[in-house]
Formats: sequence, structure tokens, C-alpha cells
Amino acid sequence: MLRIDSHTHILPKKLPNWSTKFGYGDFIYLQHHKKGFAKMMRGNQFFREIRDNCWDAEIRIEEYRQFNTQVQVICTIPVMFSYWAKPHDCLDISKYLNDHIVKVLEKHPKNYIGLGTLPMQDTSLAVKELERCKKIGLKGIQIGSNINDENLNEARFFPVFEACERLGMAVLVHPWQMMGEKHMQRYWLPWLVGMPAETSRAICSMIFGGIFERLPKLRVNFAHAGGSFLSTIGRIQHGFNCRPDLVAIDNTIPPINYLGKFWVDSVTHDPMMLEYVVKLVGSKRVTLGSDYPFPLGDLEIGRFIEETTLTPRQKEDIFHHAALEWLAIQGEDLIA
Ligand SMILES: [Zn+2]
Repeated sequence: MLRIDSHTHILPKKLPNWSTKFGYGDFIYLQHHKKGFAKMMRGNQFFREIRDNCWDAEIRIEEYRQFNTQVQVICTIPVMFSYWAKPHDCLDISKYLNDHIVKVLEKHPKNYIGLGTLPMQDTSLAVKELERCKKIGLKGIQIGSNINDENLNEARFFPVFEACERLGMAVLVHPWQMMGEKHMQRYWLPWLVGMPAETSRAICSMIFGGIFERLPKLRVNFAHAGGSFLSTIGRIQHGFNCRPDLVAIDNTIPPINYLGKFWVDSVTHDPMMLEYVVKLVGSKRVTLGSDYPFPLGDLEIGRFIEETTLTPRQKEDIFHHAALEWLAIQGEDLIA
């Protein structure tokens, strides 16, 4: 059965030294300190060590093939978003990363689908790069759960979402720049607590800000099964019911009505939670995801889905139908 992994990250093997080029800022660069490994450096600070499966398209195919997966949706690593940089510099970086992804697609058209990154700090540059992404063959874009701490419902981001709907470009919302990060440095809390909260922040902002209401054809997928949103939907709906004066100020449609309107991936690491997620949004709205190649991801790429009580048809939806619909593509184009 065709399996499309809707959530994976990739980098070019070589990154320009943008700090030197632009003359400011702690941009990410790679130190290839030993064979098959590189250190991601942010300025002089070590960020994380990555392996060749982060940049080598062939090694990746070998690895994910072992888990019966045929296709990966690839996008950059959120730390590369660079929304904090000067807009034209971020555009430069976005183009470099997007062009690299297109090269991977050209070499392996049946094994990869690409999502671009945009300079979201400048709406008109973002829309221009989005239009270019469409032309060069990317099927959508990945954006952060916040843009320099501004929520996704801010009016200045609306033209980007509007253009995504108009161009038929899919959106992946990925948590990053986690709220409260400064105050929870120990125990990997930004990743364990901050990330799920960030994704819920993004979904709530888009629902309450009326983005889905105004753009009914916009196709958005939220990473990590929507973070903490679905497990707290009861609370969110109750908040809407008991304090509409605080919650329903921009959109009077109940949040629960949006279940099934957007997609989430399967990265729960928990069969029971995945069954619950499917119950809430439907199997046609849950895409197989792994967060490959990072250790917090589901690096067995959905093996636990086999252990759930979901029906064969629901599993088929998760393994490919949901992603095909999110990306608006045909499965036949992907089968070798
Ligand atoms: Zn990810």
C-alpha cells in the first residue's frame, strides 16, 4: 500500500555563511566535523548534531523504504525560517532552501513532494515567493506556529493564506520559537510542553480569527496531531460557550465545527491517542507523519498504526488518502 510520510525535514548539505554575507545575525550554518555528521551552529552556539540522512536524498530513501514508505513530503527545519532577519535576506535564504528542495524533487520525482518556506515577516515578499514556489513545482508551504510572536490570525498574514487558497497551495503549520522557552530550559520542556502548546495556539488563532471561515478551501495540516488542541477541545469549546465575550469576538462559529476542516498528522506515539484523534477529525483528515529524521519523531514511520483498532479503510486513509487530498495530488503519479 502506498505510504506518504507527510512530515519530514531536509537541509542542503552546504549552507552559505549568511552571517558573513549579510553582516549581522546568528544564521544557521553547518560544520561537517566528521564523515556523515554535521553540527548545526547558530552563530557560535551549537544547536544540534545532524546526520547525513538530513541532507542525502538517497540515504533517506533507503531508510524509509525499510518502513514500507514510498514517498516523503520534505520541508526545511523550522530553525531555518529566519523570520527575525531583514525581509530581503530571509527571501534570499527561502529561495536557496526552496530551490534545493526542487533539485531533490527533480532527481527523485516519485519519492519526494516539496513544501517551501516564505519570508513571512514581509507579506508582499511572502506572496511573491509563494507564487514562485507554485511555479517551480512545490505543492505547498510550511510556516511557523507564530511569526515573531505574532499569531497567525493577524491581519497582515491574511493575504498569504488568501494566496495559498487562490493558488491551491497546501499549508503545514509547524511549532517553533516555543512560548515560555526561556523559562523552561531543563528537561527538554520546550519540545515536550512548548511545542504541543504552540500548535494549539496556531489552531485556536486560525479558528477564532476566522481564517478557516473566510477561506473555506484553504488546506492546512498541523504537525504532531495538532499538538494539545484536540486533547483540550472540550475545554476550548466550553470556553467558547461560557465566555463568548472573550472568545467569540471575531468569529461566532463554535470551534468544534472546525473538526474535520483541517488536517493533522499521526505523530502521537500512542495508538489510543491516534484512535481518539481519528474519532474527532475523521481518518480522511489524519496524514501519516514521522518528523523524520529527528529523534523525537516516529522513526518507525507509522508502525504503531498497525497496532490500533482502526479499520483497514481508516488506515488506508491515514497512509495516503488524507495526504493526497491535503496536497491535491494523485497517487498514480507517485507509484513507481
Ligand atoms: Zn517537524
